[in-house]
Amino acid sequence: MSLHDLFKKEIHQSLIGGVDVRAKGRGLVEYISPLTGLAWKKYYLSGEQEAEYAISIAQETYTQWSQVPPPERARYLRKVADILKEHRDLFAEVMAMEMGKPLREGRGEVDYTAAYFSWFAGEAERIYGLSIPSQFPNKNLKIIYEPVGVCAVITPWNFPIAMAARKIAPALAAGCTVVAKPSSETPLSMLLLAHACHQAGIPPGAINVVIGPEKEIGHAFLSSSVIRKLSFTGSTAVGKYLYRESAETLKKLSLELGGHAPLLVFDDADIDKAVAGTLVAKFRNTGQTCVCANRILVQEKIYDAYMERFLVEVKKLKVGNPRDEDTNISVVLHPDSQKKVKEHVKDALDKGAKGLLLSDDTYRPQVISGVTPAMKIFREETFGPVAAVTKFASFEEGISLANASEYGLASYVFTETMKTANAAVSKLEYGIIGVNDGLPSTAQASFGGVKNSGIGREGGPTGLREYLVEKYVSIAF
Ligand code: NAP
Repeated sequence: MSLHDLFKKEIHQSLIGGVDVRAKGRGLVEYISPLTGLAWKKYYLSGEQEAEYAISIAQETYTQWSQVPPPERARYLRKVADILKEHRDLFAEVMAMEMGKPLREGRGEVDYTAAYFSWFAGEAERIYGLSIPSQFPNKNLKIIYEPVGVCAVITPWNFPIAMAARKIAPALAAGCTVVAKPSSETPLSMLLLAHACHQAGIPPGAINVVIGPEKEIGHAFLSSSVIRKLSFTGSTAVGKYLYRESAETLKKLSLELGGHAPLLVFDDADIDKAVAGTLVAKFRNTGQTCVCANRILVQEKIYDAYMERFLVEVKKLKVGNPRDEDTNISVVLHPDSQKKVKEHVKDALDKGAKGLLLSDDTYRPQVISGVTPAMKIFREETFGPVAAVTKFASFEEGISLANASEYGLASYVFTETMKTANAAVSKLEYGIIGVNDGLPSTAQASFGGVKNSGIGREGGPTGLREYLVEKYVSIAF
């Protein structure tokens, strides 16, 4: 069946070994699209039993897929990238319906997703081992890399296919097989992605999707000793739960968790670059990204000029229906984000922040200044379109404010001076730093955080390692 026909189907369910699987004893659940507010699709949910079945199918297929020569695996992955790009509009439409992503951003996410498949196709072809000089004249020492085994993948709703691709593409490239659990809010995106993999020729049992209650499916993943790797993107609270609960089966883990990015604008910044960078780092996906600039820190001499320009540009952002081609900010904001936006803005204003641009509509951009570390918005991820601005005096104060967070995912620095840029890069406690760059994420570079933002890296030259195990061999002769 074509991806277009699959998209049109009203009823969906878990996809295991390429077959639609219905759980015994569970009825149909209606899905309401947050874009239209209307019933859109129906799902048969799965539980622990189906998750265990999917794990067994992935285990069976592992024997075959892990033996496919890496250059051949690479060809399949490149084909997935082609299929995704051919269906750019279709996937963008699914994401608009499932989470209200503007079509323009959705198409960008499809290209970003395809880029992970292309990147890891190349990486599959370069799974080099090592030969190590031995101190013993009669020994050859070598290290070889092998797939870690069957992988479980759990993904969030905010980038339904890109976050999945960051895990599925390297897993398949390494020779692993996958059981994936999408967010209950974006199941169709993941199902279509899995179908795209199958249509590219990847064995159906190599990528399985289980849709259903998170605790039940999570439990099947956590307690299984067949699952040798769990890769999760989502909130820090759930990440910590998975970390704790997977101890018994000692899996390899990747945890891509929450962020609370600082964006530093130093006195010598180029205002055009800084404002353009802030807009993309703050308002992409209606402020619902883990790398969103949640704390905008502006040095005192540039402050007035930067703020004046920033406010002008924020007011130009087009808020509207995600289906309109010129929409920058979608009117659809996640219910949790709506709550947080209200709570954070109120708390900040109550504690003395100044509202420079306020709105009762939580999806509209808001700008508040005079934000201090005592305010919730300075400490917690808002996940919404509120720009929280703090003025600072010295370089040291700026860095200290930037590092005053339990998170350590992305950070941004705007300066025209090499000395300031270098000093900031060496002092910032973050896994990703964009220097005069509000959008550093790319498949070719590693993505991941420190502190409460998680462990492991996705994409880039080290992303494949997360799905490989090292085998050391000593040959005496
Ligand atoms: P979430 O609530 O943690 O959910 C993420 C995924 O985990 C969903 O599939 C969810 O399933 C599942 N889940 C929840 N509880 C579980 C449990 N007990 N056992 C197994 N699975 C469980 O996060 P979210 O609200 O979808 O996403 C937003 C968060 O993700 C933000 O904090 C954001 O910063 C973070 N994020 C991080 C990155 C990164 O790369 N670092 C990227 C994007 C987003 P259900 O939907 O079925 O509940």
